[in-house]
Amino acid sequence: MKPFPRAEISSRALKHNLKRLQEVAPHSKVLAVVKANGYGHGLLNVANSVCDADGFGLARLEEALEMRRGGIHGKLLLLEGFFRREDLLQLVTHHIDTAVHHESQLQMLEQAQLAEPVTVWMKLDTGMHRLGFSPAQFHDVYTRLMACPQVAKPINFITHFACADELDNEYTRQQLAIFNRLTAQLPGERTIAASAGTLFWPESQADWIRPGIALYGVSPLDGDRGSRHGLIPAMRLVSQLIAVRDHQAGNTVGYGGHWQATTDTRLGVIAIGYGDGYPRNALPGTPVMINGRRVPVVGRVSMDMLTVDLGADASDRVGDSVILWGPELPVEEVAEKIGTFAYELVTKLTPRVAVCLE
Ligand SMILES: *Cc1c(COP(=O)(O)O)cnc(C)c1O
Repeated sequence: MKPFPRAEISSRALKHNLKRLQEVAPHSKVLAVVKANGYGHGLLNVANSVCDADGFGLARLEEALEMRRGGIHGKLLLLEGFFRREDLLQLVTHHIDTAVHHESQLQMLEQAQLAEPVTVWMKLDTGMHRLGFSPAQFHDVYTRLMACPQVAKPINFITHFACADELDNEYTRQQLAIFNRLTAQLPGERTIAASAGTLFWPESQADWIRPGIALYGVSPLDGDRGSRHGLIPAMRLVSQLIAVRDHQAGNTVGYGGHWQATTDTRLGVIAIGYGDGYPRNALPGTPVMINGRRVPVVGRVSMDMLTVDLGADASDRVGDSVILWGPELPVEEVAEKIGTFAYELVTKLTPRVAVCLE
């Protein structure tokens, strides 16, 4: 018996997407971004599936340590760097690269005594204004890093786009020009592009691309679909019908009684709700896939269940599988209907959802 709800993770799709991104950026190495539990797909599920990636990007030291415990030996980069002095020892012990974006990290490096130097990626703020050193700070910081015996040479460079998902936004070109101007004459590797940069700004692919969402088969762009770029959704979120009920015109369903049937119909009750990470703010009309057709959510999503209008002639039965999103029903489409972001849907599943690598 398969558990439900469950997130079926396709190893084949992950491998395919990696290959596809390698085709899109043939001159770049791939840092597969697997932070946040592999965007909800399972950290080691993903890492083992895309073991041909040249390295992995993570947001937290704990994630990197879990990778090492899981037997992943390749390059690991902490995209936000280390947060505490003690973390530096772990970086050395486990050969983990770190971004350096802040004066506090510089000081910790300068004051540390390490058995070996750490590989650093100097983070440049070219316009995102979230993390990184400004162009004005560049020279001083670079000089300090070069002088720091705890820092391996050469120093590498990383930046992040603010608007790469807006295809006509000149801001991306400005960020790229700033980054190139600062780093052009220096040794060390460069990385600029996450998924949107990789797909839509090929001039930003540089030495390393850092795809996250695209690796999972999902487009970073509003209104777009991963499949338009030859990507295959890696997650299928599945549950089951646990009740099928005749429902009379004029009757409401669920908390608040906000939705009301206009005709006699049959409702299906599905074992998934916001306690599993399916958003409570999914409005009536949000699509769900049952027996090969899209049916609309009706009434409010509750903690453990949601209801759908199966239609008067429905022959669906208790126990039938339901797909909340997946290759058959793109998570981008569901996200658009809900007014959220596909990244958030896949990442926010709760531990009650079994994550099953297939
Ligand atoms: C999360 C992250 C990525 C991956 O972003 P996607 O849009 O999912 O491809 C790349 N780089 C950095 C610094 C990140 O934080």
